[in-house]
Amino acid sequence: MLDLTYEPPKPKVIAGARHDWELVIGMEVHAQVSSRAKLFSGASTEFGAEPNSNVSFVDAAMPGMLPVINEFCVEQAVRTGLGLNARINLVSAFDRKNYFYPDLPQGYQISQLYHPLVGEGEILVDMEPGVARTVRIERIHMEQDAGKSIHDMDPEMSFVDLNRTGIALMEIVSRPDIRGPEEAAAYVAKLRQILRYLGTCEGNMQSGNLRADVNVSVCRPGAYERFIETGDPGHLGTRCEIKNMNSMRFIQQAIDHEARRQIAIVEAGGTVEQETRLYDPDKGETRSMRTKEEAHDYRYFPDPDLLPLELEQDWVDSIRDSLPELPDAKKARFVNDFGLSEYDAGVLTAEVEAAAYFEAARGDNDGKLTANWVINELFGRLKKDDDTPITRSPVSPEQLGKIVALIQSEAISGKIAKDLFEIVYTEGGDPERIVEERGMKQVTDTAAIEEAVDRIIAENPEQVEKAREKPKLAGWFVGQVMKATGGKANPKAVNQIVQDKLGL
Ligand code: ADP
Ligand code: MG
Repeated sequence: MLDLTYEPPKPKVIAGARHDWELVIGMEVHAQVSSRAKLFSGASTEFGAEPNSNVSFVDAAMPGMLPVINEFCVEQAVRTGLGLNARINLVSAFDRKNYFYPDLPQGYQISQLYHPLVGEGEILVDMEPGVARTVRIERIHMEQDAGKSIHDMDPEMSFVDLNRTGIALMEIVSRPDIRGPEEAAAYVAKLRQILRYLGTCEGNMQSGNLRADVNVSVCRPGAYERFIETGDPGHLGTRCEIKNMNSMRFIQQAIDHEARRQIAIVEAGGTVEQETRLYDPDKGETRSMRTKEEAHDYRYFPDPDLLPLELEQDWVDSIRDSLPELPDAKKARFVNDFGLSEYDAGVLTAEVEAAAYFEAARGDNDGKLTANWVINELFGRLKKDDDTPITRSPVSPEQLGKIVALIQSEAISGKIAKDLFEIVYTEGGDPERIVEERGMKQVTDTAAIEEAVDRIIAENPEQVEKAREKPKLAGWFVGQVMKATGGKANPKAVNQIVQDKLGL
């Protein structure tokens, strides 16, 4: 059974001219289902195809065409619901949302208003290491995407591209549990991360397969708590909805501007009108798109072409059994099993591919050492290299694992390891062979080190005097020996021998 633990998130407080105000935010996220075919037709969902090349008769709404539900899309939405600890409704139904728009040839969108596929769930949103807050999910329903109108290709005409028409979307609706711009961005980031782990949505915000409608209201301190206690939304302020946000940065900016706009209205004695607004990032403001009076009456009704969707519990259970390890569980395991800090575990589990890379590189190596190498050396190098994604890393997990093993067995020093890493990164090859062939092995042979120390002591009598007065200066000799051995001497051994020979 679902056990909802609810800890209220922390409100952002904005000081108005007269008093303090708190933010209340609820989000409706549209996530494009990862599927090769559309929700009710077999047409391809390929991104960037020639306009109107992925359009079936169903998508074009030719007379007499009938929609046929794509089982895989339903499975993906169920998988998403299970990944968000949500209730799966074994019976759901599709409704028609009627409106006219040139990119909507049916004249209605097939959606789920009255009986959504997925009910209440929750997401733990990571705010900072060690701090996670629960945001409740109200529902997830399935619906069709619309096409695209193109207004900038011709001075006289507009064009319509129906490739996107009918692609499956999941609308993930949160409760108004988000309390500030940073929490809103963290919520979208966590949702995106879970979707990507589940493989149910690619979560690419630039190409629009994850977009958010952001509902914002402001209230006086204490009002939100009364809303939670009583469940009465009357305690909250009137909300405005900012449509179609597809950047984390703009989401935060838009919320901040919208909250300040509402505060100014209320403090001047006015009332906030419930309306749909658009954010203009160039001007840094939201502007009205339509007010409640202009809002459409969509005349929703059950789609007569589609039977209610009835799922079998066994089928749902089998999807549950096939869920991958999700970010929170993976992060906890990395902390517990490998002794990583919560911060490092968070960095490594941010993308499922990075987590898989780390685990493959770790093999039998020390977890912390491997984590350092993945995060500091590899991530740093990939970033410098034009932000190369980890999936295209020139150094494979096996190669990095070998480098780490060579450090761990003290076969090479940490400094030489960095040179070795660069060689493997740019030239490829087997790290063990490279170390052999290029004589990079660490010198642990004390006789060789002693010889070098003796020589440097003999050549530098003043430095010896100084070091005997000020033992800290022995570090200079260590540096000289490392230089003389091309960084290959074992620093621990060098340090010991220098101390002994100087009589410190
Ligand atoms: P509607 O039925 O009009 O679409 P919902 O109750 O479904 O409204 O809410 C839509 C979204 O708006 C949800 O994400 C919800 O959390 C959010 N929301 C509702 N009331 C408020 C409010 N007062 N302030 C901010 N967000 C809100
Ligand atoms: Mg709603």
